[in-house]
Amino acid sequence: MTEPSQAKVDMEKLVSLCRRRGFIFPSSEIYGGLSSCWDYGPLGVELKRNVKDAWWRAMVQQRDDMVGLDSSILMHHQIWQASGHVEGFSDPLVECKGCHLRFRSDELEGNKCPDCGGELTEPRMFNLMFKTFIGPVEDEASVVYLRPETAQGIFVNFENVLNTTRKRLPFGIAQVGKSFRNEVTTGNFIFRSREFEQMEIEYFVKPGTDKQWFDFWVEERVNWYVSLGIKRENLKLRPHTKEELAHYARECSDINYLFPMGWAELEGIANRGDFDLVQHANSSGKGLSYYDEEAKEHIVPYIIEPSAGVDRTFLALLCDAYDEDEAEGEKRVLLHLHPDLAPIKAAVLPLSKKEPLASFAREIYASLRQQWMVQYDDAQSIGRRYRRQDEIGTPFCVTADFESLEDKQVTIRERDSLRQIRVPIDSLKATLRAKLGGEDLFVLPDGGKIWKE
Ligand code: ATP
Repeated sequence: MTEPSQAKVDMEKLVSLCRRRGFIFPSSEIYGGLSSCWDYGPLGVELKRNVKDAWWRAMVQQRDDMVGLDSSILMHHQIWQASGHVEGFSDPLVECKGCHLRFRSDELEGNKCPDCGGELTEPRMFNLMFKTFIGPVEDEASVVYLRPETAQGIFVNFENVLNTTRKRLPFGIAQVGKSFRNEVTTGNFIFRSREFEQMEIEYFVKPGTDKQWFDFWVEERVNWYVSLGIKRENLKLRPHTKEELAHYARECSDINYLFPMGWAELEGIANRGDFDLVQHANSSGKGLSYYDEEAKEHIVPYIIEPSAGVDRTFLALLCDAYDEDEAEGEKRVLLHLHPDLAPIKAAVLPLSKKEPLASFAREIYASLRQQWMVQYDDAQSIGRRYRRQDEIGTPFCVTADFESLEDKQVTIRERDSLRQIRVPIDSLKATLRAKLGGEDLFVLPDGGKIWKE
């Protein structure tokens, strides 16, 4: 549920920027589109990959209590019985008797159709899982579901991971992957779609230490968003009340973000107790437990689950990065994206298309792209080219001019401050690496000088 509030960017501007610059397209567009499904274009795919890489680096690579997993989307149908999804993963659906639009009754304020004011049907529970069949025979025995969350793939691999990694409690298993939900109400761009990606952690702890680890993960996850440049004032914790806690949860808190349509869930963190391992142990007949060396007994770990959405993080990052200002005498739109996330790290811009400057600049481009996603742009005025890069969040532009041919130096322009330095080509790569890593632009390499304050 969203809670209305005043965000700084409106969704239309973002949707239009995403479309215009190739971040996101509606799915199946030439056939009229497919409701609530989206395609990530050339820049979108880079940003999305950078989000997932940043998460993996911080949550798996840089921690010694975490390992990764990539479980399959199609899984044994009994998993969804044991997890409670077949029985309970549903939303209450009502239909307008007049215009036949459908709504989630828990999201409606009154008992009339919000579109035409017509009378609504009684709510019926609508299961959100997509159902299909495995193999050639379409009968009950061959039913499988597209997973509505990645978490279950982790629970059912608990023993495999434990036996192969010899991890001791507390430790976590992390997974990034697609999930599918046949949502009743969709919309708000990529905020709620029917096919989306999740970044989930199941963190296994000793019972009794669960409260402490729950608090740890809430803080850790908020800090992760802030480390990527999201403003702290645009994030808010929303602890769940006892009444709204899911059946499996002992405690739960959402990390909400101030999206254009209001405060809404970016990530959910839950203390799931031993629910999942007990359910799967009972249903599969396998004892899913952990041998506690100290206590010399088998225990069933409790699980803390920080569950984030890739697409919602993508949207939050865009909302937070979007800005309009004036630069070099012109209005500009810019994305203040963190350098780790920017789809393009640098653009090489020769002042003219003429030789030998073009070959000179192309050589720089060829060298930089060995390391980073870099664009080469020689079309239109330099001002227009800067604007194009600002609008897609490129942190640095490297400009080669006719003097560069003589002094073997180029200028580096910073997106946010518009400051410029001039550096020898020999130290360009090292300088860019340092600036992309957060070093101040005015820390100069040998032979470098300040070009524009
Ligand atoms: P909501 O209340 O918004 O439907 P949820 O509480 O059902 O979300 P969870 O089951 O906790 O969501 O899923 C964890 C995360 O997965 C969410 O915080 C969100 O980032 C992402 N997510 C869930 N459903 C969708 C969806 N339909 N589209 C995009 N992302 C989603």
